[in-house]
Amino acid sequence: MAEVKILDKVFATSISEEKLLSAIDTAAQKINTDLDGRNPLFLCILNGAFMFAADLMKRISIPCQISFVKIASYQGTQTTGKVKSLIGLNEDLTGRTVVLLEDIVDTGITMKALVEQVRTAGANDVRIATMLFKPEACCPEVKPDYIGLNIPNDFIVGHGLDYDGYGRNLRDIYTLKQ
Ligand code: 5GP
Ligand code: MG
Repeated sequence: MAEVKILDKVFATSISEEKLLSAIDTAAQKINTDLDGRNPLFLCILNGAFMFAADLMKRISIPCQISFVKIASYQGTQTTGKVKSLIGLNEDLTGRTVVLLEDIVDTGITMKALVEQVRTAGANDVRIATMLFKPEACCPEVKPDYIGLNIPNDFIVGHGLDYDGYGRNLRDIYTLKQ
């Protein structure tokens, strides 16, 4: 099992790139079937989802568009806590089928907020495609429509995911060693 040291922490390979790509391929085929004739707009959530988006989009064979957005996090009121909002969205979403592309859904708080915003912006159907999903952590209101792989509730890096900005370039997924 290969290990990698990033800053002060040691990570060990947990999912090979091969297994990841096969899972992404399966998800892409499902999207091709489900969204045929819907002209979906994919929204890649930067930075983490850039590699997943590239792998997935190469396998999408139906007419579609892709755009790239970021999440801005700022302190809201006492009751709302941290507010997450989409920035960099230039497309008209009215009536569209939108597929949010995310690297990982953990607690689901981010996705819940983004789905609401995309709906408010006029999208007709909002779906979530995530490379990885932590079912044990995720809240019941958020169910990704397309999931590459389910993973345990551990901290991981690689294939777009970072530790303090490092590790995004790794092909495989690595799990933090305890
Ligand atoms: P959520 O709102 O679902 O709890 O958070 C999702 C975001 O947290 C992801 O987009 C990702 O940026 C970050 N995240 C959650 N789990 C992990 C993990 O295991 N590793 C890394 N690198 N980021 C994670
Ligand atoms: Mg992310």
